[in-house]
Amino acid sequence: MTEPLDSRFAVYVGSFDPLTLGHQDIIDRGARIFDRLTVGIGINPDKKSLFSSEERFSMANMVLSPLKNVEVKCFDGLAVEFVKSCNAAIMLRGVRTLTDIETEFTMSLANRALEPAIETVFLMANEKYSHISSTLIKQIASMGKDRAATHLKEFLPSEVIEPLLVKLRSGGNQRGPQS
Ligand code: ADP
Repeated sequence: MTEPLDSRFAVYVGSFDPLTLGHQDIIDRGARIFDRLTVGIGINPDKKSLFSSEERFSMANMVLSPLKNVEVKCFDGLAVEFVKSCNAAIMLRGVRTLTDIETEFTMSLANRALEPAIETVFLMANEKYSHISSTLIKQIASMGKDRAATHLKEFLPSEVIEPLLVKLRSGGNQRGPQS
């Protein structure tokens, strides 16, 4: 007989390219609600990413190491299958806008059809961070490193700023289907 899924265990899945203050806020709050929280970094070879999965994993680990009930893992394939493979009953997601809600609602219905035992739980973004997205970070990063450096601390954990500036100095490193 298979073990029942743990309803006190949540997995927060996303690209985290890179981990922002908005993600960190959801993780802090999720870690207070659930006994255990895994941050699952999705590797999608068809999606262009700024950071490699190893880089995203190592930055997230640095930022989240003070949280004792949080661990970071990478996965490929379907997020809902990853959540099940962890033996967690909850998929955690954050929502910022009405557009997020629409997209996330559709995704959660698809996930429920695939794995009815996994519940998706949404946390509303903190209003301080609701405007932050990885797309915004990439736009700021493209302003040039001096201007970017002054703004990035409003959006990113300090451990992520230097690796991002290094990436900019080296001319970026977009990974996608061709790389
Ligand atoms: P994905 O590509 O799966 O959307 P992201 O890394 O962009 O991955 O986001 C992961 C999750 O975190 C999603 O549920 C997204 O809505 C949520 N999220 C992203 N940015 C924020 C933010 N600033 N505040 C709260 N939640 C956020």
